[in-house]
Amino acid sequence: MKKVLVTGGAGFLGSRLCERLLESGHDVLCLDNFFTGSKANVAHLTGDPHFEVMRHDITFPLYVEVDEIYNLACPASPIHYQFDPVQTTKTAVHGAINMLGLAKRVKAKILQASTSEVYGDPLVHPQVESYWGRVNPIGVRSCYDEGKRCAETLFFDYWRQHNIRVKVVRIFNTYGPRMHPNDGRVVSNFIVQALKGDDITIYGDGRQTRSFCYVDDLVEAMMRVMATADDFTGPVNIGNPNEFTIMELAEKVLKLTDSPSKLIFKPLPSDDPQQRRPDIALARETLNWAPTIQLEEGLRRTIGYFRDTARVPQFALAG
Ligand code: NAD
Ligand code: UDP
Ligand code: UDP
Repeated sequence: MKKVLVTGGAGFLGSRLCERLLESGHDVLCLDNFFTGSKANVAHLTGDPHFEVMRHDITFPLYVEVDEIYNLACPASPIHYQFDPVQTTKTAVHGAINMLGLAKRVKAKILQASTSEVYGDPLVHPQVESYWGRVNPIGVRSCYDEGKRCAETLFFDYWRQHNIRVKVVRIFNTYGPRMHPNDGRVVSNFIVQALKGDDITIYGDGRQTRSFCYVDDLVEAMMRVMATADDFTGPVNIGNPNEFTIMELAEKVLKLTDSPSKLIFKPLPSDDPQQRRPDIALARETLNWAPTIQLEEGLRRTIGYFRDTARVPQFALAG
């Protein structure tokens, strides 16, 4: 049994990861400042003697004893990471320094939840790990994109300078149960709008593309990355390579929810990437992994979750 720290453990991906780590027989310390995560996401785990929740902000030092660290703490949705952009950069950069300092002191293995945003609005398609990306350093998305890029730099410098065992995964758009209904990301927005009968908000002309990975596939891959040999650092892309336009996504959600909602068009946010699809050859080869849940099935499960949460007052879809 390992003692595993999950920062951002009360968030969408973190809470599912905590569950899976417990199922695998580990002792889990879930750490979160509850900015975008919630206690409700992990309430069902708190009775487990191998599970512990701690309120903490990773921009401050943390002294605990652990064997492995999954560093997921960071708001991931544009509306949330742009709410307090300076805090987003601090979380990405100071947070990474603190977690790497912790890993160094206790000789823990540490995995960074990086992002496809490090590729920016890409000129190479699909995106391979060797591509350096095309990121605006001064735009509204930069706090997140550049914060995550700097965090990668820190991971590789701690590896070169201090011999820390690091793993960097670049996560492409991931969706599933426990996304916050007001999260602002496209899958949760469209499902909530469709279930409420509200207009479906397409930003731009809807021809921009994304590749959507179901949460369980992503969490499985992250755990496989943590289990790789010490000389495997990544970065490794994790995502589902099936690519859809945002318009196709809207149509699928409308069909699966049988919703009367209409499509409306809103301005495209600045620096919104035109296309995104992971090249996952490295993940296939190193992890013997590929996504197993395709978009329609994943959407069905996620729609089921949002139908259920609509009955929970604190997440009520009204308003
Ligand atoms: P999320 O917002 O649900 O989870 C982030 C969690 O981190 C939340 O629980 C939040 O309260 C916590 N947090 C934020 N700042 C913190 C701080 N300073 N100290 C402690 N906790 C803090 O988002 P998610 O989708 O679960 O994303 C998890 C990680 O995966 C993030 O690092 C994100 O950048 C990365 N990621 C996610 C996606 C995706 O599509 N879901 C894609 C690429 C990368
Ligand atoms: N740190 C932490 N927990 C630890 C060890 C370090 O939070 O168990 C923080 C510490 O506050 C420091 C940062 O991690 O600012 C980087 O630590 P490192 O040892 O690499 O650097 P230094 O302390 O020499 O600046
Ligand atoms: N998007 C949209 N309507 C929404 C929310 C998002 O058309 O209600 C678009 C957004 O402009 C982007 C894509 O969907 O092109 C994915 O947005 P999201 O915020 O989910 O993720 P990211 O842009 O970080 O990939």
